[in-house]
Amino acid sequence: MTRIPSLALRLIQTPKDLEAALPLLARERLVGLDLETTGLDPHQERIRLLSLALPQAGEVRYEPRGRGRGKQATHFPAWLHLATLEKGKRVAIPLGENPYAEGRKGEWRDFFQVGEENGRVQIRRVKALSPKPYTPRTERLAVDIGLSPLIATDRGDLLGRGFLRLLAAYDTEIQTIAKRAQREGRKLSQVPEYREAMGRLRGFLKNEVNRLLNRLVALHAPAVLVVERLDLRSPELSRRMNRLLSNFGRRYLKEKLARLGELYGIEVVEVNPAYSSQACSRCGYVDPRNRRDTQTFVCQACGHRGNAQVNAARNLLRRSSPAVNEESVITFTPKRETLRLLLRRYAERSRPGSRLRPGIPGGRSAALEQVWGKNPYLKGFPDLLRTLGG
Ligand SMILES: [Zn+2]
Repeated sequence: MTRIPSLALRLIQTPKDLEAALPLLARERLVGLDLETTGLDPHQERIRLLSLALPQAGEVRYEPRGRGRGKQATHFPAWLHLATLEKGKRVAIPLGENPYAEGRKGEWRDFFQVGEENGRVQIRRVKALSPKPYTPRTERLAVDIGLSPLIATDRGDLLGRGFLRLLAAYDTEIQTIAKRAQREGRKLSQVPEYREAMGRLRGFLKNEVNRLLNRLVALHAPAVLVVERLDLRSPELSRRMNRLLSNFGRRYLKEKLARLGELYGIEVVEVNPAYSSQACSRCGYVDPRNRRDTQTFVCQACGHRGNAQVNAARNLLRRSSPAVNEESVITFTPKRETLRLLLRRYAERSRPGSRLRPGIPGGRSAALEQVWGKNPYLKGFPDLLRTLGG
């Protein structure tokens, strides 16, 4: 089963493999292409897997129990027959039961997903789940994906507050195993404890993502879910753990969001996250000093104080709103331009005499120019520095 290259599926991991496969590719007039990336936006994310389907590469036939011939067929619920890249050579793969998938309402498709998990090849038959009856109660819900908590919403919910602490425990365990393997000169992928710990970590990630997103749907029943780039990383974790998170954590989030779309028809909208964690969701003021630490947001201009991720989620919500159309300008602009736009917009709104000048609690209005003058970001935009004074 682990020898994929002998099947109709050929896993290409080195330039040499690719060279060997090129004659096969070159003889086709038409190839199917599928791209799997680390995030929702294929233009910005890293490519994980590129699948090419060749018409001549062979056929896949699915044979459920009862229709098989011979003794073999009775031992397994189904068989998958694959033509190989060698002419005339066929391979039959027995498929096991999947009680979870069988228990879900839906329609089996004649599509098979082939993936690799913990060094083992996994083949799964695709089932299209039947949509569930769903009545949205919330038009738009914005979530900020972080690690502590995993999810914060613009409504102020904090879900998965113990997430980072538990991840840190996995991190310590995996780092210890890795160090020992290195001392003993063993390859990490061949250390059973490592594979076992990785299996548990993946199970934990998948479970938390499922549990918390289900909770979110139960709490608010959103029609539209606004998310930022799904970037799971923390300076408090090792590089190894951060890499694992940006691979698996992100993948599980992406899969879960896709499933919510399939099941409930929830639309997922991705917005530009630039400076959403440093901008004040009340008055719009952007300043790195607004962030006290990973948890606390304190606006230097208007004094607004709150959970940093909830504040970020509120900014994401505003950026996604079609009603504030000019705001959507920032959706796909580069980072520096986004910053300029946010600062300029704030300056315009806050000019003395402006109808939209935000109220400064405790009569700090005079202090506003002072805060503005000391904003480290304005060094990059000297033309904006004068705009607030009018
Ligand atoms: Zn503010």
